Amino acid sequence: MSQAQATFVKSASDASGIPPNGKPQVALFGRSNVGKSSLINALTGQKGLSRASKTPGRTRLINIFDTGAYFLIDLPGYGFAKAAKHEADAFQSLIIEYLDEAPITFALVVIDMRHGPSEQDLAMMESLRGREVPFVVVANKSDKLNRSEQTLELKKLRSQITDVDLVAVSTETKDGISELKTIISSRLHKPTA
Ligand code: GDP
Repeated sequence: MSQAQATFVKSASDASGIPPNGKPQVALFGRSNVGKSSLINALTGQKGLSRASKTPGRTRLINIFDTGAYFLIDLPGYGFAKAAKHEADAFQSLIIEYLDEAPITFALVVIDMRHGPSEQDLAMMESLRGREVPFVVVANKSDKLNRSEQTLELKKLRSQITDVDLVAVSTETKDGISELKTIISSRLHKPTA
């Protein structure tokens, strides 16, 4: 299937660094190591794309990718184990500033399907609800569970997350990626409230 070539636009240290060209913004939130970079590669079909954002220093910035139809905005992973408290606070304030200032069209809250949402994931969802930003919960690493475990985890997650879409994916096997792409494109064309 042909798809527009996605590009890494730049890293920004605050929300004002995002090019204001009117393209929809799809923002990615999640803890470090949950697979946000792998998800960017899977969504764009470009394996090495998000490597640019893994260069030292850029993991703590807002990394912006242009997929053609929309900007993918990769926010710093929260809960970075090695970050000192003041650094963790700085990530948090960057995320809050972005939430307050950027015209987010749609958000992806990426969680690890094996562990369910952390306290921080739940707080992130509350922040999005509070700002009326529509979002989907992306339960990644489904390949780490067998079919019956997946069914069980999905059931648990669906009882916890009742008000938004939930999609199980694996960036490794690409399970669920096309479903997620369909969800994203359906949200791009929906007029925002
Ligand atoms: P980020 O810190 O959120 O950007 O996470 P990365 O994309 O760098 O992924 C963190 C680790 O999880 C890497 O070792 C990835 O290979 C691995 N990973 C990401 N997605 C998946 C997945 O769907 N399945 C499995 N088994 N591993 C994954």
